[in-house]
This record gives sequence, structure tokens and C-alpha cells, in this order.
Amino acid sequence: MDNFTYSRATSLSDATNQAVADQNSLFIAGGTNVVDRLKVFLDRPSRLIDISRLQMEEIEPMADGSLRLGALVSNTAVADNIDIRRNYPMLARAILSGASQQIRNMATVGGNLLQRTRCPYYYDTAFPCNKRMPGTGCPAVTGANRSHAILGASEECVAVHPSDMCVALAALDAVVEVASPQGGRQIPFTEFHRLPGNTPEQDSNLQPGELITAVILPPLSFGKSGVYLKLRDRASYSFALISVAAAMNLSGNQIQGVRLAMGGVAHKPWRATAAEDFLIGKSANTETFTEAAEIALQGANPLTDNGYKVELAKRAIRRALTVSAQGGGVI
Ligand code: SF4
Repeated sequence: MDNFTYSRATSLSDATNQAVADQNSLFIAGGTNVVDRLKVFLDRPSRLIDISRLQMEEIEPMADGSLRLGALVSNTAVADNIDIRRNYPMLARAILSGASQQIRNMATVGGNLLQRTRCPYYYDTAFPCNKRMPGTGCPAVTGANRSHAILGASEECVAVHPSDMCVALAALDAVVEVASPQGGRQIPFTEFHRLPGNTPEQDSNLQPGELITAVILPPLSFGKSGVYLKLRDRASYSFALISVAAAMNLSGNQIQGVRLAMGGVAHKPWRATAAEDFLIGKSANTETFTEAAEIALQGANPLTDNGYKVELAKRAIRRALTVSAQGGGVI
């Protein structure tokens, strides 16, 4: 770890002004991913701006029926919140499927969005890596790529986003609220993270000095049907090989509304909008779900070691849609 200046932000404007003044700075709150990266020289900031004392720890209902999650709410507090468990159960289940209780106690809403890939080459500085050092190459393209992307990747980077929570947030049409010295703005969740293209060093569309202040969950009338299915190598403390967040609204057996997103497949949480469009108005049955899964995986481009993910994702989608059509629950 390099030496750095530590400063504690006294207000939101103090935090964002400090970040603009020193563009080699990093915000730190729970630190569950940042400290790991500092220790192995992946991040070498000149300044750490501690935002952990700012007042962003509330889960608040809003006038339009949305729920506003402050950026410093812990992952545990989100998963335990009664309104989230009742109305957005896919989010609670996604969070509880990730990391460990101790890490979830420290990890924050904002930090979860900004955690970086767990591609092993990214963390091993003996290897080149375009994300860590642009222009050096991507050994994962021809190397050990069993856990890497099958959708939306580029020659420059085939990493996947590691978050479970973010897959549910993509399915729920969440909105990210950010602050900067120029004021605030809201970013639709599906536009927050980026595909790698030729700039894999950039994970999100945040601008220099911008700080996440909250994530807003719009009301979803059929949120109670939400499920989160995570498939991984170990039963706990393991990242998703494939995950699926799904929710469905039926009238009789006809699909009136549906949400579908995948994790473990791309550089960002992957919202399957073409499959959603196909499902609307169809009968909820295995044939329909099988066809939707085929549509969701159209364009999949597996690497040398991860072809299994294509079939695994299709089966996971069928299973998640089936359980959601039955009213949801733990898978
Ligand atoms: Fe680096 Fe991305 Fe390649 Fe992994 S997949 S080695 S993070 S460039």
C-alpha cells in the first residue's frame, strides 16, 4: 500500500469539492473492496476521502411510493428492512446470497455499486491487464476464463461485474442519485455501469467528483413475486457463475408484466429486455420460458472455458421465471 493523505469529509459538498480538487483521490466508506485493492497496489490514490460520517444512512419512503436507500446504508440493513423484504424480496435475497455476514455489515449501498471485478488477472500484478493498466493486454481472453463474460465483452476485457445486489437493482429499474459540486443528477440503473469496449478501466458513468448519495427503488406492483437464483461453485461466500433476478405479474395465466436480469454474464448487470418484451402477453408455461431464455442468450459469445454458462443461464432463467410465475419465494 502506498502512502496517502486521509481526510474526513464534513459534508456532502466538502466531499465532492475535495474529490474535484484531487482527482487522484478515492472515497472510502465500508472499505470492503477498496482496502483489498489498496493493499495490492491496484489503486494508488494520493488521498482517501472518508465519507462514512455523512448523513446517508436512512431508508426512506417517498411521496410517489418509491423507497430511497441512502448510499451509506449497510447491505445488512437493506436485506433486513421489512419494506424491502415484503415488496422487493429479490433484492433482499440477492444481498443475502453475497459475501459473508461480516462483510455485509460493513459494505454500503454505494460501495456495492462501485466494487470492481474479481477477475484473478486484475488482482495479480504479475500479469498485464487492460483494466488495471490500459493498453497492456487481456490475458483472460485466451487464459483461464471459466468465470468470465459471455455477453457484451470486448477484445480489451472479458471481466464480469461481481455484485448480486446490482442484478436485482437492474431488474427493479432502480435509479442512482449522485451529487457533485455542479449539483445532483439521477442515472437510470441500467445506464450506470458500462460495457468494457475499448475503455475497460472505466466501470461506471460517474464523472470525476461525483458521489453516489442514494439508490431509489420505484414501486413495483408485482415485486412480491421477485426471485433471485444464484449458481456458484460453493454454497456460500462465492461469486455467481450465473445469477437471475426475475419477477412476474400474471392475469390468469397470461403474463402482464415481467422483469428479468442476469449476473455473472457481462461487465455490467445484464437486463434481458428482448426476453421481457417477448414474454408480455404470452402464457406462463415451460415452452414460453424456454423461448424467452433462448432470446436472452442470443448474441452470447463464450470464451474457451466458459461455454457451459450459456446453457446454465438458459436453465436458470427457466427456473427463475417458473418460480416467479408461481408467486415467488426462495429458490
Ligand atoms: Fe483485466 Fe478485464 Fe482482462 Fe480481467 S478480463 S485481465 S480485468 S482486462
